[in-house]
Amino acid sequence: MSRRCVITVGDLGEFGVVARIARRLPQGESVLLGPGDDAAVVKAPDGRVVVTTDLLIEGRHFRRDWSSAYDVGRKAAAQNLSDIAAMGAIPTTLVVGLGMPADVPVEWVDGLADGFRDECALVGASVAGGDIAGSELVVIGVTALGDLAGHAPVTRSGARPGHVVAYAGRLGYAAAGLALLGAGIVPADGPLLEAVEAHRRPRPPYGQGPEAARLGATAMLDVSDGLLQDLGHVAEASGVGISLDPAAFPVGEPVAAAAKELGTDPLDWILTGGEDHALAAIYPPEVRLPPHWTVVGRVSDGANVKVSGRATGPGGWDHFRA
Ligand SMILES: [Mg+2]
Repeated sequence: MSRRCVITVGDLGEFGVVARIARRLPQGESVLLGPGDDAAVVKAPDGRVVVTTDLLIEGRHFRRDWSSAYDVGRKAAAQNLSDIAAMGAIPTTLVVGLGMPADVPVEWVDGLADGFRDECALVGASVAGGDIAGSELVVIGVTALGDLAGHAPVTRSGARPGHVVAYAGRLGYAAAGLALLGAGIVPADGPLLEAVEAHRRPRPPYGQGPEAARLGATAMLDVSDGLLQDLGHVAEASGVGISLDPAAFPVGEPVAAAAKELGTDPLDWILTGGEDHALAAIYPPEVRLPPHWTVVGRVSDGANVKVSGRATGPGGWDHFRA
């Protein structure tokens, strides 16, 4: 098996800013050959490479008036690193494509690069290279690579009746923050600010992905579209039903505070809010879970995801409440 992986990194000579960006980005031990050639060469220690890609489009995935360049960089890196962790792998390397209007100040790109740098530092990942082109909106395409370190990838299809459903990380925080911003509330401090910060910068529990693989998780994904919807993918891929106990979910202080402020049920955000990138995993019942995993449900025969024994349809939680 090859232990190197060659990636096309585009035309790095195209913009004067590229060298400036490259200097700000981490090129750690996963990168054997970084920016400056037609392609980079990175390590593939396991012999297999986990790869994922994600696209962020201004106005659709972020707003430049709601998030700083630094926050957008953190978030763009985080959602890709989290997808690698959700396979039970260790994120090693990113490659970044950036489209941007000519009037975006170069300092904005500096901030973006710094966000990538700091998020990658949390897991020791590197940025091996990238490409920049002019476009009408800011568009950020990120490809992430990861190392399975000898473990089998944890897919969505291994859940079996009798297994337990657990999650690590935060649920409902980013949705609470987005709701506050949408209501025109820009808090200066306290738990409401913490919710807004969670929207700007998710905090995925990266280490718990490889940990779940070691513990014997039978299915896993990161919660990017809402727990009900994402667990629906596990139920479908595994051919099982999933029952959640709403009383099992702790309500974080920022989520509770935002719910009080906006007169909302915090469980709405916890069950349907995306973008926190918590990890949801399925475990055989005999696995002893470390305390940062919270058991919230069970796998059963049947299909779909139920809350308190009642079906949640395509309309998810709203459907259930109606
Ligand atoms: Mg994902």
